[in-house]
Amino acid sequence: MSALTVAKHRSNLEKLRAETEEGITALEVSYDELDPEEVASDVGAGEDEGGSEGDLTRFERDRIRARIGEERAFLELIDAAMERTKTKKWKNCTRCGEPIGDARLEALPATDLCVTCKANRGAW
Ligand SMILES: [Zn+2]
Repeated sequence: MSALTVAKHRSNLEKLRAETEEGITALEVSYDELDPEEVASDVGAGEDEGGSEGDLTRFERDRIRARIGEERAFLELIDAAMERTKTKKWKNCTRCGEPIGDARLEALPATDLCVTCKANRGAW
């Protein structure tokens, strides 16, 4: 296994950030397309099927909004990980200070916890 350099790690984070931003943009587009007013008028133009369509749209919008929230939170994790690359501790767990491990950092560039702390986090 080759050692993960800070330059490689930063480029992994940048890539992940770009992908996450793209994902958020796509979600926002889907969200806007599900404008209840617009969907209602589309439905109204044909047969009047009533509320079920609207409820589904609202449900779908809520789901997308939740996803956008999660993705935004993930962006903050990426930014925080990027900040940590300016310190000497970027390879260390923010909880216990042990090395996170190059393989884990490569797979999950935004992570700030070693696998042990991650596993324990639920209990804390
Ligand atoms: Zn740890």
